[in-house]
Amino acid sequence: MSQKNYSFFGAVEKSFDKAARFTNWDKGILEQIKACNAVYQMRFPVKRDDGSIEVIEAYRVQHSHHKTPCKGGIRFAAEVNQDEVMALAALMTYKCAIVNVPFGGAKGGIKINPKKYSTYELEKITRRYTAELIKKNFIGPGTDVPAPDYGTGEREMAWILDTYIAMHPGEIDGAGCVTGKPVTQGGVRGRREATGLGVFFGLREVCNMPDIMKKLGLPVGVEGKKIIIQGLGNVGYHTAKFFENAGAKVIAIAEYEGAIWNENGLKVDEVIQHRKETGSILNFPGANNFNKNTDALEMECDILVPAALENVIDEHNAPNIKAKIIGEAANGPLTPEADEILNKKGVLVVPDMYLNAGGVTVSYFEWLKNLSHVRYGRMEKRFTENLNNHILGQIEKLTGKRVGDKEREFILHGPEEVDLVYSGLEETMITATHEVMNMWKSNPEIPDMRTAAYVVAINKVGTTYAELGIFP
Ligand code: NAD
Repeated sequence: MSQKNYSFFGAVEKSFDKAARFTNWDKGILEQIKACNAVYQMRFPVKRDDGSIEVIEAYRVQHSHHKTPCKGGIRFAAEVNQDEVMALAALMTYKCAIVNVPFGGAKGGIKINPKKYSTYELEKITRRYTAELIKKNFIGPGTDVPAPDYGTGEREMAWILDTYIAMHPGEIDGAGCVTGKPVTQGGVRGRREATGLGVFFGLREVCNMPDIMKKLGLPVGVEGKKIIIQGLGNVGYHTAKFFENAGAKVIAIAEYEGAIWNENGLKVDEVIQHRKETGSILNFPGANNFNKNTDALEMECDILVPAALENVIDEHNAPNIKAKIIGEAANGPLTPEADEILNKKGVLVVPDMYLNAGGVTVSYFEWLKNLSHVRYGRMEKRFTENLNNHILGQIEKLTGKRVGDKEREFILHGPEEVDLVYSGLEETMITATHEVMNMWKSNPEIPDMRTAAYVVAINKVGTTYAELGIFP
C-alpha cells in the first residue's frame, strides 16, 4: 500500500476533471457536482470494558443532495480520516447515478480497529454514533440511509436500526433508516452477497463482449478464466464464490496475514474453513504460500480483483501487474498514477464506481421494501405458479407430450424474494456495463473505462441540477 501522504478525495477530483472535459456542462454546475455538500466530523466518548474512557473520532459526509436520501456505507477502520470519507461519499454519488439508483452519495467512518474492541464496546460505539447522527438530522429514511462497508455488517446495521427506532417511536417508515439489516429486521434476501454478485455480473458482461476480449487476447466468457482475489471479506468472498460457480478458477487469494496460490484453482469455501480452523489462509493443503501478501497481485492471471482497501496498487507495483483485466471490487484500489501505467500497458480497468454498485443497488431494493412494508414476491409468487401450471397443462394437452421433471420445476417456480433481487441486480449491472462501454466507444478521445463511467455519472447528476435549477 502506498505510504506517501495521499489525498484520496484529490484522486477522485482528478478523475472527475479528466472526465469533465468530455461533457458540456457549465463550470459552475461541474463545481457543484464535485463539491461535498455537508461534512459532519464528531468526537464522542466511550467507556471501555476496563473502565477507561476513550474519545472516538467519527465522520458522516453527504457528498450530494441533488437527490435525497443520501446513501452510503459506514466503515470501521483504524485508517479512517475525513479525506477518505469525502472521497468514498463522492464515489457513492457517481455510483448511484450510473446504476440509476435515485440517491445522493454519502459515507460514514469511525476511526477504530474493530478487532481491538469487545462486542459490547462496538455496540456502544455504534449506538452512540447513531445518536450523534440523529441529533444533527444526518440519518433517516428520507434524509440519509447508511449501510455496511469495510469492518461492518448486519450486526452493526441492526444496532443502528434499533437506536433509530427507539428515538423515533411510531415512525412508520423507520426501518428504511439503514440498509444491510438482518432479514429478520427488515433486511432483504440477497443483500449480503449483493456487492460480490454485482462485481461478478459486471465482469461477466465485459467478458462476454467479443471485441473487448479480442483486444485483450482472451477467449469470450467467464469459464476457465484465472482469477486472483485480494481480501476475502464480504465482497471478496462472494465475488470469488460466484466466479467459482461459473466455472472460473480462483488461482490465488491474498489476505491480511499472507497469500496463497494453486494453478488448478482454490476451493473458496475450503479456504474459509481452513482460516477458521487455523486463524490464517496460509498453509492451505495443496496450495503454495507467497512470501509477501502483495506478491499475489503481481502474478499472471486473467482477472485481478482487489477487494480490500484503497491505494493497494500504486506507481511502484503497477508496472509488475500481469493481469489482463482489473475488476475494482474495492473502492479506489488504484492510485491515479497506477491507473495511468496500467492503461498504457493495455490492462482493462473496470472501475469501482460502477462495478461495486451491487451493494447500493440491492440496498435500494431493501429501502423500497421497507417503504412498501411487503416482502418481494409475496403478492405474485402463487399467482405466477398457478398461471404457469395452467399454461404448461394446456401445452402438454395440445402436444400430447410431458415436460421432464427438472424443466417442470423450473417453469412452475414462482419468484421468491431472492430471485427478484438477483434479477433486478443482474439487469442493473448489465445495463450499466453497456451504458459505460457505449460512452467509451462513442468518443475515441475518452482514454479509459473509468473516464467513460465518470462522464455517464456527470451527465446524469448535471441533468438533475440543470432541470431542477439551483435553489436561490
Ligand atoms: P470486509 O471488512 O468484509 O473485508 C475486507 C477484507 O480485506 C478483510 O477480510 C481484511 O482482512 C482484508 N484485508 C485488509 N487489508 C488487506 C490487505 N492489505 N491485503 C489483503 N487483504 C486485506 O469489507 P468489505 O465490505 O468486503 O469491503 C471491501 C471493499 O469493498 C472496501 O473498499 C469497501 O469500500 C468496498 N465495498 C464494499 C461494499 C459492501 O457492500 N460491503 C460495497 C461497495 C464497496
